Amino acid sequence: ALNERLKNIEERKKIYAEVKFLTYKDRKRILITGGAGFVGSHLVDQLMLDGHEVTVADNFFTGRRRNIEHWIGHENFELIHHDIINPLYIEVDQIYHLASPASPPNYMYNPIKTIKTNTIGTINMLGLAKRVRGRLLLASTSEVYGDPEVHPQPEEYWGHVNPIGPRACYDEGKRVAETMCFAYAKQEKTEVRVARIFNTFGPRMHMNDGRVVSNFILQSLQNQSITVYGQGDQTRSFQYVTDLVSGLIKLMNSNYTLPINLGNPEEHTILEFAKLIKEQVGGSSPIIKKPAMQDDPSRRKPDITRARTYLNWEPKVQLLDGLQKTIDYFHNELSRSKHSERN
Ligand code: NAD
Ligand code: UDP
Ligand code: UDP
Repeated sequence: ALNERLKNIEERKKIYAEVKFLTYKDRKRILITGGAGFVGSHLVDQLMLDGHEVTVADNFFTGRRRNIEHWIGHENFELIHHDIINPLYIEVDQIYHLASPASPPNYMYNPIKTIKTNTIGTINMLGLAKRVRGRLLLASTSEVYGDPEVHPQPEEYWGHVNPIGPRACYDEGKRVAETMCFAYAKQEKTEVRVARIFNTFGPRMHMNDGRVVSNFILQSLQNQSITVYGQGDQTRSFQYVTDLVSGLIKLMNSNYTLPINLGNPEEHTILEFAKLIKEQVGGSSPIIKKPAMQDDPSRRKPDITRARTYLNWEPKVQLLDGLQKTIDYFHNELSRSKHSERN
């Protein structure tokens, strides 16, 4: 245990040495709601390395202290255990508003809480942005397009969402969160940015949050059956988390004020993913079919013309490279949990 602690201290020193120094004029005070989660923690890493003052507000529903632990103790970093359903009074320049359960099993677990977080929580963060005259970026989602009839999906498409289905708490929650952003922009002149994020994967995804990439990797690593829901001919397009983080930061600091898709346009069927991951892990798992999920979107692929044009952004990380990093992460997580079972 002592060795482990010494190793951590050494690693921390190395990371802290990389933090840029910004003068008072360039240094921003940044709030990240949901900053202890998967995407949020990678955003924290980048903004801290860039030299900003970062405050995380998180209720740890799906987020973990461990994701941001390495920053606790750094003078530019603050962690607040806070549920955004309650008002928050702090002084900041920018708000990255990411707090919301994101994977279908998580947001369906307590749909009312999902709705409250996306509605009351978003109003609170907009109220905060309005009071401090700051800028808020909403982490919206490709789910606002529902089960799309237009393919690929451009931002002009209004979507095809079942308002009373099992995914509605999330889809409609994010849709009204977007509405709120534009209402505050219009009525209160609050500065808002809206990112419509498509499926994202990478290290620090929760082991059992039930998303397809984490499920397939874990199943492959443990030689369990790989569970394809339905026929596996539904498609998704996956981006690696560091690509998303660079897009979010570019969008926050751009002058572009309409919603913008952030995703990787490379599209695959879920069955292709199952085979790809199985091959990359190299296990002997059988691929089996399970019943289809209700209202599961049949295909999804972003049109990223806007992001290319206005942010000069496009994804850079190759799928297989990102997958390898994610497989390595889960491999470590598994040995870690085995280790802690033994001790
Ligand atoms: P995540 O579950 O890892 O992170 C969400 C974070 O929000 C967690 O740390 C959680 O504890 C926190 N949170 C939830 N409710 C809260 C509340 N009421 N108050 C305070 N904190 C709360 O999910 P993620 O994948 O990192 O997603 C981050 C954001 O990006 C979400 O808003 C999600 O809707 C959006 N998004 C993600 C994806 C994706 O593929 N990962 C795709 C589209 C949109
Ligand atoms: N709010 C907050 N932090 C702030 C300012 C406001 O959490 O710094 C919350 C406040 O509780 C309110 C919501 O944001 O419920 C919306 O604020 P707004 O000023 O738009 O509404 P009002 O206070 O006039 O109802
Ligand atoms: N999926 C699957 N097996 C799993 C988990 C998910 O076949 O173990 C499918 C799911 O039905 C959906 C796709 O993979 O069609 C992506 O699911 P995920 O929950 O990752 O994200 P979504 O895009 O649906 O929000």
